[in-house]
Amino acid sequence: MTLAILQATGADAVDAVIEAGRFSAARGWVPATSGNFSARGQAGRIAITASGVDKGALSSTDVLQIALDTPPPAGSSAETGLHLALYRRHPAIGAIVHVHSTHATVLSRRHGPAGEILLEGYELLKAFSGIRTHETRLAVPIFPNSQDIAALADEIDRRLDAGPQAPGYLLAGHGLYAWGATMRDALRHAEAFEFLFGCELAGAAA
Ligand SMILES: [Zn+2]
Repeated sequence: MTLAILQATGADAVDAVIEAGRFSAARGWVPATSGNFSARGQAGRIAITASGVDKGALSSTDVLQIALDTPPPAGSSAETGLHLALYRRHPAIGAIVHVHSTHATVLSRRHGPAGEILLEGYELLKAFSGIRTHETRLAVPIFPNSQDIAALADEIDRRLDAGPQAPGYLLAGHGLYAWGATMRDALRHAEAFEFLFGCELAGAAA
């Protein structure tokens, strides 16, 4: 499976979510049924993973199709509200990837008190849509982890409205949210974040 075959539009949204789960599980980003994936479909709906399922072995019955303008239904992940908030507020977002990857989790704890991590000078910054040079300074917000998803979504909205940001954020001690216009973009961004966070950790340890 390659990123190139992934699309996240219309009837393909469920397939994109299933493939994103496999892609992420193969990289060890979604241990112990963690993580969730979604893609924007048609008619104001999204496809999103159900709660508590192995993201590396998803079938179509593990993917819920829900409306953007109604509360998350039973069987959906507690974090569905974070996905919905992003889709409602940002029409250009077509897919969202949430992973509990090691580098993101460790770095989010280390930099949590600062509220962000700055990535700059890396060639791989060009993996992010719209970035053309390594001479870029990308701020990745870090939010305290919370079980109050509504309050967390409001805090994230305020921060993202404050100015241009990276296509993702960290929840401290929890993991990474990354997004893109398509699932292919969202996964490329997640992979770039995970690599760059690994570089930051390796540099700090040197
Ligand atoms: Zn999570």
